[in-house]
Amino acid sequence: MAEFRLNEITKEQILIVESRLKRPKDFKNQEVIEKVSFKENCPFCFGNEEQTPPEVYRIGDPWEVRVVENKFPILDSNGDITGYHYVVIETTNHSKNLHEMNEDEMYKVIKSFVKVSEELYTKEEVKYVQIFKNYKKRPVLL
Ligand SMILES: [Zn+2]
Repeated sequence: MAEFRLNEITKEQILIVESRLKRPKDFKNQEVIEKVSFKENCPFCFGNEEQTPPEVYRIGDPWEVRVVENKFPILDSNGDITGYHYVVIETTNHSKNLHEMNEDEMYKVIKSFVKVSEELYTKEEVKYVQIFKNYKKRPVLL
């Protein structure tokens, strides 16, 4: 279940979702993330589509970009604070970074952001859509 809490120091509201602790680590500890072309048990690899939660959007057949429900959503339809949380699989080579994509690949990623956002905004309960990308581990400030 999600809940908003107030950071008394910064006076910012933060969203706390305890179920997110169950998800696998987003990032490996090493600075350089291993680039692989295929892993048998990786839900984002081409050919492993059945390992992801349901697909909500795709470009191409076979797919070039897929948007799927997040297995460990920040928000879902339960609780007082509800929402949708999707994952965009940007290319069939998900080791590729945005800056390594060609113009066509970048166009399709941005098109998927637009199309899925437009679809979400047709839902009466959706007031705001946030698009973000996890990229490398944040440094811990002590
Ligand atoms: Zn993979």
